Amino acid sequence: MSTKISIVNVNDYDSILHAIKAGITLIVDTLPFDIRECKNILLKPNLLRPTKDACTQPVFVEAVLEYLKDIGVENNNINVGDSPCQIKSSAKMIAKKIGLYEVCEEAGVKFINFEQDIPVQEDIDGAIRLKDYYISKPVKDCDLLINLPKLKTHGEATMTGAIKNYWGIIPAGLKAKYHLVGRTPDKFGEALADNFSWIVKNKPNRLIIYDCVKVMQGPMGPVSGPMKQWDLILVGTDELALDVVALEIGKFKGLKYVPHLNNVYERGLGIGDLDNIEILGLSLEEARKSTPKFKVPGKFMTKFASFITRSIVYKVTKKIPTLKKKLCIQCGHCSEVCPTNAINFINEEYPEFLRRECISCLCCMEMCPQEAIKPKLRGFGGLFHSY
Ligand code: SF4
Ligand code: SF4
Repeated sequence: MSTKISIVNVNDYDSILHAIKAGITLIVDTLPFDIRECKNILLKPNLLRPTKDACTQPVFVEAVLEYLKDIGVENNNINVGDSPCQIKSSAKMIAKKIGLYEVCEEAGVKFINFEQDIPVQEDIDGAIRLKDYYISKPVKDCDLLINLPKLKTHGEATMTGAIKNYWGIIPAGLKAKYHLVGRTPDKFGEALADNFSWIVKNKPNRLIIYDCVKVMQGPMGPVSGPMKQWDLILVGTDELALDVVALEIGKFKGLKYVPHLNNVYERGLGIGDLDNIEILGLSLEEARKSTPKFKVPGKFMTKFASFITRSIVYKVTKKIPTLKKKLCIQCGHCSEVCPTNAINFINEEYPEFLRRECISCLCCMEMCPQEAIKPKLRGFGGLFHSY
């Protein structure tokens, strides 16, 4: 098995659009689908928090939208969406702050919070960590997934890129739960590989356009850190190959030091051997020449970050629904949409939330016609409760 990926330098073109176009053109003959025939295309940028450095650049997403328009894809066949972690933010709020929402409005495409729909329960064959698994409906429904990752260091996962970006297909609250399942960097790597395995088996039509224009470094990634100019875009259909090549360009030792890449490689979910990756456009040597070293957090840092997230961050920041009784009209919609039957509703009474069953997807809040459900951070009480 082999795969082709392209590497282009944005400075060799007069715009990011032309660079992206060149990158796609180089590998277009390998696509197992015709983009123009896809009727439900989902663009999945990385929207972590409301700062441009932490996200796939709006100008990058804009260029992909322009490309799709240029080849004749209709606007109403395209959605852009994500689900960030749930520390006081939603994908829409982040998109508005960094200017991506405006880009979507101007392009006439819909921006979606993945929490707007009821999550779909799915099985992952051979799952190691994610045995009770839900994903966002827009991801389940799309017939072409365009993954727009940004290369950054990651305190817990070592790096985030093409494979890790799919963690956002899990609705916000559930991510907290799944972080708790992956209790060490290795176990978290297994959870990321489980999630990716669902993608590989269920979403055959994928295109990855990798934002390596400005790359985040250092132990505070993926949230913040020094930004290094790489000026590169990578395009392909095999996420593992793209992550491996990105690390090679950054002169990093290799996939065995990144738990989720190693796990994906061992499960045969992608191509990780450079000998089986045909590189088009810039050669690996050319790309490496002008690129600074990608400095990832050391082992101690990844263990420490993992301890902090599993022991404190996700327990404290997990959101739970609470009821504003005065607003509630006792219609019962919340109970109907809850995917885990975590809302007891008896006609003409108020809904009651069952904390242990609740997976924090916040669908009840999205669907309530009265806005009578408000999210509440569990706060430090979360440290002492298992739900
Ligand atoms: S959907 Fe809203 S208004 Fe209806 S019962 Fe639930 S909380 Fe009350
Ligand atoms: S009660 Fe919990 S699981 Fe049910 S819809 Fe609301 S947030 Fe989701």
